[in-house]
Amino acid sequence: MTEPLFKRVALLGIGLIGSSIAINLRERGLAGHIAIATRRPETLDRARELGLGHSYHSDFADAVAGADLVVLCVPVGACTTVTKAIAPALAPGAIVTDVGSVKGAVVEAMQPHLPAHVEFVPGHPIAGTEQSGPDAGFLELFENRWCILTPVENADPQAVARLRRLWEEMGSQVETMTPSHHDLVLAIVSHVPHLIAYNIVGTAADLETVTQSEVIKFSASGFRDFTRIAASDPTMWRDIFLTNREAVLEMLARFSEDLSSLQRAIRWGDGDALFDLFTRTRAIRRSIVEAGQDTADANFGRQPHRKDAWNETTAE
Ligand code: NAP
Repeated sequence: MTEPLFKRVALLGIGLIGSSIAINLRERGLAGHIAIATRRPETLDRARELGLGHSYHSDFADAVAGADLVVLCVPVGACTTVTKAIAPALAPGAIVTDVGSVKGAVVEAMQPHLPAHVEFVPGHPIAGTEQSGPDAGFLELFENRWCILTPVENADPQAVARLRRLWEEMGSQVETMTPSHHDLVLAIVSHVPHLIAYNIVGTAADLETVTQSEVIKFSASGFRDFTRIAASDPTMWRDIFLTNREAVLEMLARFSEDLSSLQRAIRWGDGDALFDLFTRTRAIRRSIVEAGQDTADANFGRQPHRKDAWNETTAE
């Protein structure tokens, strides 16, 4: 039998991302031992019931003792507290990484508290769903998705290579970049789209001239797809906007300018401007499908609505 990639992996936080990593480590034999720690006893109990690890800890420092890989899978806003708690217990040579959706703020939050004898390689899997908690994880989450690593200056190339290998073993492709570039890219591909979804769903909920029941009844005409994004975890997204403020504001300024020119095109009946933009955006959608980042199936691959399935999911 071949040696696992890591002897002991500590997963700190066991929500969607932590549990998906745990399942991958277990199913693909990538860790000799999986130590799980989380904040609330009920989450730890659930992780135990699901058999996600080998040992379960309410104390983060206990989980990292002797670990050669430590992965923070907590909201970005919790990274400082967790790093301070584990710092004295980290083993020499351990690789410390995270999965946070913002990188500049995570580096600022963690690096000052880490001992010099560990290798810090921040990371971000560009994979997720709107579900949270230990039950949300699944094996295929990272498959055919990108994972961005943002190694700090003077990072040990061997540590970066080992972490790259881990993500590749879990099905991802890996790219490295600086934390600030990561934050700018993610602002436009993820953070601003989420803000738009939160905003439009909020606006619809506040309308007085269209009733809420009408919004819900006719949602399949476009609104529904925004509601999926706007159902994402409030803690995680609050932290993202608080910690990636500069890049989000920069991209929002561009977005507002472009929205104004669309407004102008509608006001002046400039059909050519609208048609040109909609043609360009359709081509972007096609490129995403061609890059294997989404399905080409009609209706985003949704199964036809089955009344019995609806009853099953709402019967709880
Ligand atoms: P999640 O399902 O909500 O799980 C969060 C985990 O963090 C839980 O184990 C929770 O523990 C713990 N936690 C929450 N607040 C904490 C605090 N203040 N101190 C210590 N632990 C705390 O979240 P997730 O979706 O896995 O996200 C985790 C990280 O992955 C975030 O940094 C997020 O930015 C990043 N990420 C998320 C996605 C996505 O689509 N969801 C994609 C890529 C990256 P308890 O239940 O015990 O409180």
